Amino acid sequence: MEKLTTDEPSANTSIVPIADRPVVLALIKALPQGTVLLGGDVTGRSAGIWRTDHLKAQVLVRPKTTEEVSLALKICFEHHQSVVPQGGLTGLVEGGLTEPQDIVLSTERMTDIEEVSADERTLTVQAGVVLQTIQETAAQHGLMFPLDLGGRGSCTIGGNLSTNAGGNRVIRYGMARDMVLGLEVVLADGTVISSMNHMIKNNAGYDLKQWFLGTEGTLGIITRAVLRCREEVVDAPTALVAISSFDALIAFLKHADQGLRGHLSAFEVMWHNYYTLVTTPPANSHAPLSSQWPYYVLVEAMGSDENQFSDVLASAIEASLVEDAVLAQSSQQQASLWALRDDVAQTFQFAPVFLFDVSLRLPQMESYVAAVNLALAERFENPRNFVLGHVGDGNIHFAIAVGGDSAEDRAGVEAAVYAPLEALKGSVSAEHGIGLEKKPYLHLVRSEAEINLMRTIKRAMDPRDILNPGKVF
Ligand SMILES: Cc1cc2nc3c(=O)[nH]c(=O)nc-3n(C[C@H](O)[C@H](O)[C@H](O)COP(=O)(O)OP(=O)(O)OC[C@H]3O[C@@H](n4cnc5c(N)ncnc54)[C@H](O)[C@@H]3O)c2cc1C
Repeated sequence: MEKLTTDEPSANTSIVPIADRPVVLALIKALPQGTVLLGGDVTGRSAGIWRTDHLKAQVLVRPKTTEEVSLALKICFEHHQSVVPQGGLTGLVEGGLTEPQDIVLSTERMTDIEEVSADERTLTVQAGVVLQTIQETAAQHGLMFPLDLGGRGSCTIGGNLSTNAGGNRVIRYGMARDMVLGLEVVLADGTVISSMNHMIKNNAGYDLKQWFLGTEGTLGIITRAVLRCREEVVDAPTALVAISSFDALIAFLKHADQGLRGHLSAFEVMWHNYYTLVTTPPANSHAPLSSQWPYYVLVEAMGSDENQFSDVLASAIEASLVEDAVLAQSSQQQASLWALRDDVAQTFQFAPVFLFDVSLRLPQMESYVAAVNLALAERFENPRNFVLGHVGDGNIHFAIAVGGDSAEDRAGVEAAVYAPLEALKGSVSAEHGIGLEKKPYLHLVRSEAEINLMRTIKRAMDPRDILNPGKVF
């Protein structure tokens, strides 16, 4: 792959001890005490959730304000210093991985909730606020922030926005980019772009925030955001249903969406083997529905009333779209159904596990999953492929275990997943992003012209290639 050219040679080849490097000395001098961490305080940190390795970087800067981020980047820019932004490190595509010469810019101390406007239904926050804190703050003010995903307790809004996270309610509320009204970022040279817009409508020229949403920290560091909330939804009827065929599943999605009249807020599918895994010991000793069916769907309808929801389920059973169903009777039962869906970590019983996040058209899903399983069986002795996903959004996740994780195993598993996907013109990343992990496969989804345009944008906005270099392309 072509290497991005920079306007001047990199200074990262220095053999001076890290703490004595001019860039580090300049950062320590310019920033308040306690902002720059070195050595074991950095290398002792985990490289990411679900990872067993540690940070390779030896310097970590943890600013508290946009001004400090700007100052840090200005210094790094002057010294041609690579900077890797990090939020909660729950990303699943190696987007926050570091090399020894990198400096980490962590938003862990940027945790202010600056404003809650109940009338405008907005929250103004710093980038390091944890998603669950945002959800809870919104709820305390009678609002709802619709972004939700399994990593909610650790991931930050800055990470969510820079990966354009999807999650559980995309079918109703869209992805992270649809929940942002204003954004503040710091560019590679330290310039602050503050577009803290509060209006839903604002077509005055380019919508600059889009450059930074989903671009994985390669074009700028997100420091603050104005988030769009909704009025709090009190009722969210939730059910788990069993389905006997993929055709019935597709028909049930349409049936539910039509019948719920705009209230369908989640349509999460668990394939038989994932459902069995999370409902049997050691994961669990209770299965809400018997495990004889090929598909299980968690359906949620925020704002729907119980009667409407029950009617839709009853008519689906009558039309033989649904074989069996359990309707949550309390918020505790709702939470326990969601806990099954979110319990992906159970697949680690079979570690090492390769995780995938692909998207494709709904009618192609059944044959695609069959093609992946066939390709795995041809290559490996006893492969396991746990399948689940936000199927209402065309998004499937695989957790694949083949007994090893050698380079050869990885190549074999990736070929099994991506070769049939390429033929169907699906995407190698539905919601997690590209990072380093999916980088070799970006060309399956994006044309050469598209990737070249991405490079042109990167060069224009980060001419010294200091922001998360080497990630995405
Ligand atoms: C249990 C679990 C469930 C998940 N479920 C979902 C899901 O349903 N849907 C989904 O989309 N994702 C999901 N994810 C992955 C998802 O990408 C992350 O959870 C989250 O969005 C990343 O936030 P973070 O703060 O942890 O970012 P990090 O992991 O720290 O960083 C992610 C990327 O963003 C960059 N970055 C971080 N902060 C900033 C910033 N302030 N400015 C610029 N760049 C920045 C990093 O350099 C990196 O490239 C899940 C992860 C886990 C562990």
